[in-house]
Amino acid sequence: MEQKKTENVIIIGSGPAGATAALYTARAELSPLVIEGAQPGGQLTITTDVENYPGFVEGVQGPELMTIFKAQAERFGARFILGQISAVDLSERPFKVTVDEEDVHLAKVIIIATGASAKMLGIPSESALMGRGVSACATCDGFFFKDQEVIVVGGGDTAVEEALFLTRFATSVSIVHRRDQLRASRIMQDRALSNPKVRFIWNTVVEEVLGVEEGHVTGVRLRNVKTGQMSKMPLGGVFIAIGHKPNTELFAGQLQMTENGYILTHDGTRTSIPGVFACGDVQDWVYRQAVTAAGSGCMAAIDAERFLAEAESRHAEAARTGRA
Ligand code: NDP
Repeated sequence: MEQKKTENVIIIGSGPAGATAALYTARAELSPLVIEGAQPGGQLTITTDVENYPGFVEGVQGPELMTIFKAQAERFGARFILGQISAVDLSERPFKVTVDEEDVHLAKVIIIATGASAKMLGIPSESALMGRGVSACATCDGFFFKDQEVIVVGGGDTAVEEALFLTRFATSVSIVHRRDQLRASRIMQDRALSNPKVRFIWNTVVEEVLGVEEGHVTGVRLRNVKTGQMSKMPLGGVFIAIGHKPNTELFAGQLQMTENGYILTHDGTRTSIPGVFACGDVQDWVYRQAVTAAGSGCMAAIDAERFLAEAESRHAEAARTGRA
């Protein structure tokens, strides 16, 4: 195992939160090291048009926006490395971050910006047909389902939003929900209910995605949870929109989490361990926007910078009084 010098700041994750934390800590001359993680650039790299990021009158493509974020941080000296983190040890200082099971990096401060990932149903046929008609992102893949029938699984705002978006391409969009009431907000419900292309299949779950042998989705096998009745539905696309899961596995048992599994932050972006900060979707299940993630990345950088400055002045004071 190769061990490196102690960094001021290691940022874990490179979406809007991580990249903004990198920009601000770089401009504070802390020379941050960003470990890009499993999805460099984060969730925006799997979206197309981003029309609500301020500053882009005509909108911007998600991957392009993240390229700009990274270039801007690099301009001030942030270093980005590709790699997956296999372990994080927050039990002693400096903190220890192991990348790809072999490179150990040490840091005085850690900023966690690992984001969240779309939840999946967890049935084998779903993973076998992922990218072959199964998708968790209508904005990324909707275009491929022109003139086809599709379903969206879920009953929250995401499911309804995805369904409405898909009506631009698909001939019809069925929302398959496990209950008979949507969780989505009233306004979204009204939009879906009044859209002639959207229909609802209530009290129903997907038992199996069909088409594994053909190599692409050909339909679904559905089960009504009230009656137990099974049915088959031929279609071309299955969109999963059942919520998100924060990427916190690396910190389990080390940091305090909220009841729903997000990293608990207080007084800005502080976590339960001094010197460890969290920003973006890994600690926010409410707003979940690129701009709010970027904002909290900025906050984490400022909190980290102050933490390091205070630690340094305590150290200097101890040395001074020690000498006196
Ligand atoms: P939610 O957690 O709100 O909804 C998830 C939905 O998926 C629920 O209807 C849930 O059913 C269903 N579900 C969960 N697990 C399963 C499963 N294993 N099988 C079948 N169904 C399942 O997640 P969203 O992503 O929709 O929204 C997250 C947050 O983001 C919310 O606060 C939402 O308001 C917000 N948001 C806002 C938008 C907007 O304002 N434009 C757009 C998108 C999201 P059940 O209801 O039975 O629990």
